[in-house]
Amino acid sequence: MLLQSKLRKRLLLAVAAAFICIFSLQAIIRYVWTLPQLDQLAHYNDKLDVQRVNSHINQLIMLNKNFAYDNAVWDESYLMANTNNAQWFQDNYFTKQTFSHQIVNGIYFYNAKGELITGMSASHHFEKMVTPEFTEPKLYNSLLIKPQDVEQNNFMPLVKVRFVDVLGRPAVVTSQSIAPTNEYGPSAGTMLLWRYADEQFTELLAPYDKDDIEIHKGLELANIFKHLSSELGSDSNDPIVYKGRLFIGVRDVYGNPLLAFSIVQSPRLYNQEMFDVSMLAGLLMAMSILLLFYWFISVRMIQPVIKMLKTVSYVSLTNDYSLRTKLSGSSELHRLGHLIDQLLSVVEHQQQTLHQQNERLEQLSNTDPLTGLANRRYLDSYLDTLSSHKANQQLPLSLLVIDIDFFKSFNDTFGHSQGDRVLKQVATALVQLTHGATDLVCRFGGEEFVVVLENTDKDNAAHVADNLCRGIADLKIAHGGKNAADYVTISIGVATKEATAAIDTQKLFELADEALYQAKHQGRNRFITAKVA
Ligand code: GH3
Ligand code: MG
Ligand code: MG
Repeated sequence: MLLQSKLRKRLLLAVAAAFICIFSLQAIIRYVWTLPQLDQLAHYNDKLDVQRVNSHINQLIMLNKNFAYDNAVWDESYLMANTNNAQWFQDNYFTKQTFSHQIVNGIYFYNAKGELITGMSASHHFEKMVTPEFTEPKLYNSLLIKPQDVEQNNFMPLVKVRFVDVLGRPAVVTSQSIAPTNEYGPSAGTMLLWRYADEQFTELLAPYDKDDIEIHKGLELANIFKHLSSELGSDSNDPIVYKGRLFIGVRDVYGNPLLAFSIVQSPRLYNQEMFDVSMLAGLLMAMSILLLFYWFISVRMIQPVIKMLKTVSYVSLTNDYSLRTKLSGSSELHRLGHLIDQLLSVVEHQQQTLHQQNERLEQLSNTDPLTGLANRRYLDSYLDTLSSHKANQQLPLSLLVIDIDFFKSFNDTFGHSQGDRVLKQVATALVQLTHGATDLVCRFGGEEFVVVLENTDKDNAAHVADNLCRGIADLKIAHGGKNAADYVTISIGVATKEATAAIDTQKLFELADEALYQAKHQGRNRFITAKVA
C-alpha cells in the first residue's frame, strides 16, 4: 500500500514537473521569442502606415508647390510683381476656377520689399472670405521669401511650406519666390498660397486613406502631443499608439502644436494576454498527453508491480501459496507475474506433498505397528492435551492399565508369532468393547494396554473394566500355559479422578498400576479399582 502510493506519488510528481516545464517553456517561447517578434512586426507595420500617410500629405504639399512654381516662376508674373501690377494679378488669378481647383483658399502676391501687391481668400465655392493677415513679424518673416535668401541661393527660386493658424483653423501655406522663367535672377517677391488643412484636404489623399484619416486640433492636441513622437517631416521616429490610433503631429511656425493627423492602428492578429487560444490549446494537449502517459505507466507498469508485491507479501505473511497474481499480458512485467504464479504453484504443490507426508509420519509415529492402536507416545500427548483443557478439570477421568495374564508362558507354549496374533486379537476386542468417540485404547508396551475413559466416574470405569475382562475371556483364546487358565485373560487396574479433583496423570498411572499389581496378586482375570488419593 505504501509502495503503491509512493510509486504513484512519484509518477504524479514527475508528470506535474513535466507540465510545469512545458508551461514554462511555452511562456518563455511566447515572451522571449514569439511575442517580441510579432510586436516588432506590428511596430514595423505601424511605422509603414505612418510613413504612408506622411507621404500622402507630402504629395498634397507637392501639388501646392507645383502650382506655386508654375505660376511664380514665369516671366510675366516676374514682370508684374516688379511693377506692382495688382490689376494683372487680379485678372489672371482670382477666378472661380482657381479656387474651385480645391488646392487653395488664398493667393497673395508680395513684392521684393515684402509689401502686399494683391491677394484674395475664398472658399472652394468662390465665396470670398476675410483676408487673413500674415503681418505678425515672426509669421511674416517665416512665410515670405526675402530677396537676399534667393541671392544666397545663387538667384535660383526658393519655396517653403509652413503650417500656420489662419483665423483659428490650421492651414498649410506654400511660399514661392517669384522668378523669371529661366529660373535665374533676383527675386521679384513672394507668391503665397494657403489652404485649410481640413477634411477636404484629407479627402484629397488616396481613397483608401480617406475615411481613416482624422484631423485633431484644439484642446485634445495637448494630450496627443504628450504621447507623440512622430511629426510631419520626420519619419525616423517610431510611431506611438494612443487610444488605438497612430498620430502624426504638425507644429506651427512658433513651434506650437497646431494639428495632428491620425489613422486607426491595424488590428493585432495575436493576443498579448498570458493565455490565448493557442497557448491554452498547447497546454491542454500537453496535459492530455501527460495524463495519457500517467494512465499508461500507472495501469501497465505500477499496477502489475503492486499486484505482484501484494501477492508475495500476502504469501510470505500467511504461508498460503494458493494465491496468484493472475497477470495477463506479454510485457516483461506480466511475464514476471506468470513466473511468480508458476513458482507459487510449484511451492504450493510441494507444500501439499510435504503436508501429506508429515501427516503420514505423524500418524506412523503415533501408531503401534503391530496392533494399529495408538502408541505410548500418542497417549502422552493425548493426556497432555486433555489436561490442558480447562473444561476437563471439572469432569471425572478414568484410566485402565491392562495386562495379559501369563503371557510369557503363552509365548513359551505357542511361539512368539502366535503371541503377536493374540496381541492383535486382544487389541481389536478392546477397541470393540469401548466407545471410539470418547475412549482411547492404546498399546502401552509389550502385552500391556491402557484405556483412557473421558468423563467417566469410578462406577462406570469399573463397569467398563468388568466388561473388558469378560470380553477378552469370552474370546476363548486357548492358553494352556503353565499356571494359566484355559483361555487368555487380562487383569486391569482402574484409577479415577473425580470431577472435583485436579488432573494428575502421573498419579493416576501410579494408582492404576498399583491396582493392577493387586489384581495380579489376587488371582488375575479381574479388575481392581484403586482408592482415590
Ligand atoms: P503376568 O501374568 O504376571 O503378567 O505374567 P506374564 O508372563 O504375562 O508377565 P511377564 O512380564 O513376565 O511377561 C511378559 C511377556 O510378554 C514377556 C514376553 O515374552 C511377552 N511379550 C512382550 N511383548 C511381546 C510381543 O510383542 N509379542 C509377543 N509375542 N510377546 C511379547
Ligand atoms: Mg506385563
Ligand atoms: Mg502379563
